[in-house]
Amino acid sequence: MKRILIVGGGIAGLGVANTLAEKLKGAEITVVNKEAFYFAGPSRPLLLTGEQQYERIIRGYEEVGNKGIRVVIGNVTKVDPDNRSVTVTESSMGSPKMLNYDYLVLAPGVVYDGSKIVGYDKYWYKNTTVYDPGRVNVLKKRLWSESSGTLVVYAPKFPYRCAPAPTETAMLAHTILKHRGVRDKFRIIHIDANDKTQPPAIADVVSQVYQQAGIELITNSEITEITDNSVITSKGEKIPYTILAMLEPNRPPKFIEEAGLGSPYFDVRSPQDLRHTKYDDVLAAGDAAKLPFPKNQEIAFESSQFAANKILEMEGLSERVPVQYAFVGWTYMGNQEGKLETLSLQFQMDFTKQPPAVNKDPKLSRDYTLQKDRWEQAYLERLFGYRI
Ligand SMILES: Cc1cc2nc3c(=O)[nH]c(=O)nc-3n(C[C@H](O)[C@H](O)[C@H](O)COP(=O)(O)OP(=O)(O)OC[C@H]3O[C@@H](n4cnc5c(N)ncnc54)[C@H](O)[C@@H]3O)c2cc1C
Repeated sequence: MKRILIVGGGIAGLGVANTLAEKLKGAEITVVNKEAFYFAGPSRPLLLTGEQQYERIIRGYEEVGNKGIRVVIGNVTKVDPDNRSVTVTESSMGSPKMLNYDYLVLAPGVVYDGSKIVGYDKYWYKNTTVYDPGRVNVLKKRLWSESSGTLVVYAPKFPYRCAPAPTETAMLAHTILKHRGVRDKFRIIHIDANDKTQPPAIADVVSQVYQQAGIELITNSEITEITDNSVITSKGEKIPYTILAMLEPNRPPKFIEEAGLGSPYFDVRSPQDLRHTKYDDVLAAGDAAKLPFPKNQEIAFESSQFAANKILEMEGLSERVPVQYAFVGWTYMGNQEGKLETLSLQFQMDFTKQPPAVNKDPKLSRDYTLQKDRWEQAYLERLFGYRI
């Protein structure tokens, strides 16, 4: 019986687990996840306006376990590819524990790491961000209670997870403050370390919408220092804030680099062959893999299907699941008038073409917001086995 060990029970990890549970009969599939629940990303920003609720985007692993996939709750701290073992601490199996495998798939996503920002160790708690399950609620509370000030939103250098989320944060904040009748008492400043808001394909629409909403955009500027009431940028500007919504630079968990599997992202052979450049039996999927694409849910899932296909191939099976790197995405653009009914922009990216084909509908629509919800719920149902 082949032992497939998957680190990370998120989009990519469960993408691999579900496909192999279906196609590779008789395999022992184990998923190790840090928490006993999963918190979906895409509609998290809508928690701010109250258009999304926590209970609709959190899932447990009950149904995954019922499918015959073994789920271990634990924190992976070490991978030893030469000895085919993974160390799990603070685990539901007791701690620490070593797990062995025939195939290892690393899908732990990313960590938000502000350690290179001066003052972050002291003032990290001042930061609120839609990226973090807990701190999004703090941001919500502040946007709904404070009567004047400056909101600073920050996007670090690419690659980071979910390219448009900083823009979504700025636009949803605008919507709430407008709704509350205090928008004119606030400055909203989006500082971006990149030359355009991300993804670049929709930056022109974002720029127009920001102008309408009075959102100030500073590009090519990294936050290098934070104090208790200001940020300092690589251009030497000191920008005061009362609310800080800063996405810290992203990186994968350290055990990837410590195992010599990449620096910092996992080195894959190609987007279609997600095996490590040195080890046939170690693969990666999702945000932790070094892929020439944006880090988002669609790419994470698609890479998981390529990883599953490679394991099927190595096991001598002829069946493959259909998959390609192409997707439709939506960006929440808030509501200029302050109605708590977010409009969205739809875009498509097709990485099977060279150069990649990118399209968008510049007309914002409420329907796109609803479509994004259906899309997210469909993924959660497919991977976690139930819909709410
Ligand atoms: C606010 C926000 C908005 C987003 N918006 C969009 C969007 O609009 N569209 C879109 O396509 N994508 C969006 N995304 C991105 C999308 O959610 C991610 O790209 C996707 O979830 C990546 O999948 P993954 O499996 O690599 O990581 P995840 O889904 O994050 O899963 C990783 C799992 O690994 C676990 N893990 C981590 N470290 C360890 C460890 N050491 N030991 C054990 N387990 C571990 C984690 O607990 C987690 O459950 C958004 C994300 C966020 C946060």
